[in-house]
Amino acid sequence: MVLRRKQEMGAGGSCICPKCDTRIAHQNGVPCQEERCPDCGAKMLREGSYHHQLFQEKQARKQQSDPDTSEK
Ligand SMILES: [Zn+2]
Repeated sequence: MVLRRKQEMGAGGSCICPKCDTRIAHQNGVPCQEERCPDCGAKMLREGSYHHQLFQEKQARKQQSDPDTSEK
């Protein structure tokens, strides 16, 4: 039987801004969602977290389904 390691969400890693992709070091004991992007002030996401993955999927789908060339 193989034990799969869960994604390590402990120490280390970084928080990433969903708006402008700015990355900051994750601080122990401080959830990324409580951090603000130093650049645009948006709430940060933990890089590699479930929410970050969802966000990335959403972005990918968006880019595929509506090419923003049609607007304007
Ligand atoms: Zn930002």
